[in-house]
Amino acid sequence: MPIHLLPPDVSSKIAAGEVTERPASVVKELVENSLDAGASEISIDVGSGGIEYIRVADNGVGIPSDEVEVAFQRFATSKLAAAADLEAITTLGFRGEALPSIAAVSNVSMVTRATAEESGTRLEVADGQVLTKQPEGSAPGTAITVRHLFRNFPARRKFLKSAATEASRTQALATRYLLAYPGVKFRLSLDDSTALSSSGSGDLREVISDVYGADAARAMLELTHEQADIPVPSGMIGPPSLTRANRSHINLFVNGRWVQSRMLSYALLQAYHGFLMERRFPVAVVNIALAHGEVDVNVHPTKTEVRFRREGQVFSALQQAVRRTLTAHTPVPEISGPAVSTPSESPGPPSPSFWPAGAVGQPVDRASAHSAAHAPAPNAPAQATEPSPTTLPPVPRQALPALRVLGQVQNTYITAEGPDGVYLIDQHAAHERVLFEEVMAATASRRQEVQGLMEPETVELDPRQSELVESHSDLIAQIGFLVDSFGGRTYILRGVPRLLSGEGPRQGFLEVLDLMSEGGGFESWEERAAYSIACHAAIRAGKVLSQTEMSELTRQLESCQQPHTCPHGRPTMVHMSSARLEQEFGRR
Ligand code: ADP
Ligand code: MG
Repeated sequence: MPIHLLPPDVSSKIAAGEVTERPASVVKELVENSLDAGASEISIDVGSGGIEYIRVADNGVGIPSDEVEVAFQRFATSKLAAAADLEAITTLGFRGEALPSIAAVSNVSMVTRATAEESGTRLEVADGQVLTKQPEGSAPGTAITVRHLFRNFPARRKFLKSAATEASRTQALATRYLLAYPGVKFRLSLDDSTALSSSGSGDLREVISDVYGADAARAMLELTHEQADIPVPSGMIGPPSLTRANRSHINLFVNGRWVQSRMLSYALLQAYHGFLMERRFPVAVVNIALAHGEVDVNVHPTKTEVRFRREGQVFSALQQAVRRTLTAHTPVPEISGPAVSTPSESPGPPSPSFWPAGAVGQPVDRASAHSAAHAPAPNAPAQATEPSPTTLPPVPRQALPALRVLGQVQNTYITAEGPDGVYLIDQHAAHERVLFEEVMAATASRRQEVQGLMEPETVELDPRQSELVESHSDLIAQIGFLVDSFGGRTYILRGVPRLLSGEGPRQGFLEVLDLMSEGGGFESWEERAAYSIACHAAIRAGKVLSQTEMSELTRQLESCQQPHTCPHGRPTMVHMSSARLEQEFGRR
């Protein structure tokens, strides 16, 4: 549709606001315009962090000569017609605000040629006023140069950081577009030197290699989803071995739009729970495709916050896809070292297209750009049930082969033989895993076995311990402690979980309370409690085990849901394959 001014009934419903805060926000708006124009190639050039100049050029559909001026008016857009369109926004932009607000605080020159026109147009705008408009020969597409941002706005300029900091913000922003649009060929230059580039081949793994390096790209796991999944999460997530110290490598998109959503990142992190060590974060590039009517992007001026119509559904779709992928791919860590055969240099297999076919990056007919810029997402079934965002999906079982115990090393590791080589099992970590799952299951079904004490014991608690007993009395009872208040901070202990009955019941009770209040990095109180009991009751390293005890432990581990890691994500075992053994001994 041609660029037109939105009628007041539409513009009044728009979450308007200043979008030109800093160079990176200008780059964001320009790049999104290029993507909305169906560009397959976009180049971004930034000088002095964008404070001096920003240039974004694309090969998209361009702007017809008679519409170039109106594009710079407030609420002028070709992407939205009626108020009803706001219910299902299919383009990245829709408010007709970016060009006017950028032009109000800088000098803009634009050269654009609509695909259908013979020649292009140059328009110069300074501080919101059109200075010149003239024909200019150019290839189809649009190039916009923004100079002297905030030159006449010293108060705003003061808020800009150093050129290097502003440049790094633009780079972080550009990274997300590369990842979100593998089918678009991007190049980012900072002060004339290329900082980022992608080939536009459509292969997400290749882009991940461009952005995060070849090793990370090789390791990334393709998100698996099932036919029934709605909405559909797709993309790649890092295996538990690939972690970062902060969340900045978690990239979440909704219908191709980068979003900041605590709910989504919580869903992702919860799915990694038990796979990662404490305070480590995964690498992830995930897009969630859903029907445009299911998500509201008209929430905040920067359009990075979204609201979901069925939040619970989106939450569990993401969490389950991540959980399923991790579980299917978490092998027992291999004993590796320099002698192993050199890993193949080629990156992993090319990933199937990140986006549903025809999603973005293909030039679109300007008239239909409105509806075709993004692929239609599957419609959610109307009667779909909405699971609560806090329920963890059932964890598919990891397979562990049947192991034959050989012996014990350093009174700490159990050696065992499996169908493919040798395993070393950390007896404490393994037992912690076994007990953790046992206590979790028993707590959930309220079938914790309690050992009554022949002689009840009086226990004096410290303020923190008694506060815990008071505030979580149900859970304390559920995990198997029978305690009565005796006034003040004195309690009578009448029974303990069977798992703790071997040692001093009183000491066990106090230690479990301390472990629980420390938390151990677990969020739910059930997990804290289960971990506390498991940690306290698990066989210690250094304890001599009989053959029968070792066989019993491995058998219990084999029947765990997640036998490969302890509750904190550390490995319970390492594996040396038969092939590796043969290689080490020069048999092949
Ligand atoms: P919005 O993107 O919200 O519509 P903008 O102010 O960013 O508003 O752009 C106004 C209009 O100018 C767009 O609707 C589009 O028609 C046109 N336009 C802007 N940039 C480009 C571009 N790179 N290629 C083609 N058309 C563009
Ligand atoms: Mg725009």
